[in-house]
Amino acid sequence: MLSEFDLIKQYFDRPAGSGPQRAVLGIGDDCALLAATSGMQTAISSDMLVEGRHFFAGEDPRRLGHKSLAVNLSDLAAMGARPVGFTLALALPAAERDWLHGFSSGLFALADAHDCQLIGGDTTKGPLNICITVFGAVAPGRALRRDAAQPGDDIWISGTLGDARLALAGLRGEVALDAAAQAAAATRMHQPTPRVALGVALAEQGLARAAIDISDGLVGDLGHILARSGVGATLDVDALPAGPVLARQEQRLRRAFSAAGGDDYELCFTADAAQRERIVAAGAACGTAVTRIGRIEALAGLRLVDGAGAPLDLALAGFDHFA
Ligand code: ADP
Ligand code: MG
Repeated sequence: MLSEFDLIKQYFDRPAGSGPQRAVLGIGDDCALLAATSGMQTAISSDMLVEGRHFFAGEDPRRLGHKSLAVNLSDLAAMGARPVGFTLALALPAAERDWLHGFSSGLFALADAHDCQLIGGDTTKGPLNICITVFGAVAPGRALRRDAAQPGDDIWISGTLGDARLALAGLRGEVALDAAAQAAAATRMHQPTPRVALGVALAEQGLARAAIDISDGLVGDLGHILARSGVGATLDVDALPAGPVLARQEQRLRRAFSAAGGDDYELCFTADAAQRERIVAAGAACGTAVTRIGRIEALAGLRLVDGAGAPLDLALAGFDHFA
């Protein structure tokens, strides 16, 4: 049986030189020590994943390690902050070596790709629960805040939407998908890609005003920008970039799952229309597609229109119970 100390040592406290070294002092003391980068602000965010609520019991541990950090890095991306480090608070029902190996492998693969160091945490016995806190760096005045959208701004989205929600619909039997389509869509649900390079480019080059990462569906999350900024918007539902699997589904499903799916972890951001070319170039430089999907307006509320500009009366509350 692994003791708590052995578990941390074997699976989380890596030998010096085997991962990013961002902290003055990492795992092993009562606190980690981070040197403040002169003049920079620290962006901090926590996200908790609870078994049965955010993932199914028996979920593959490697995918879980990836996703636990990915959803946190996505929050740094949405502020335009560069990842520095993270802590991991873990409640585990049992110390199983296979599970710990898979989980830490998935976690560190993503952490290393983003030069982000695991600097501490807490480990306890209990129902499976994973809480990560990330720390990032952003220059003063550059963070992409939810309260910064202005009337006249374009609204943009990164990547594609809806495949994660489609995978869930397939699992629930709400939609019939063949095995290949289910597997392709499920990749989006289990392995979200945090848009860190794009978020950092938008902030550092001063291209975007407001931003948010899409975890609960575009319409709901864009609503947070509108509320915090005291503005409204018109959204072209037919301009939304559906994921490759969703794109092959009927229009009703395409519209519903791209507008209000969930688990997308794309960036929705607003920007002055004068920045269009530079934003497209920044997306290309990061290898992340960017699509213009609407316009911020002074009139409060969110208006959904189709490709011809005609109002779409989609019952958004009904999206979750798609028949
Ligand atoms: P304390 O008793 O001071 O809370 P612990 O014994 O819980 O410290 O942890 C010992 C060290 O291991 C600390 O530096 C802590 O940050 C680190 N640690 C504990 N659990 C984890 C974990 N799951 N991932 C990374 N570091 C961890
Ligand atoms: Mg202590």
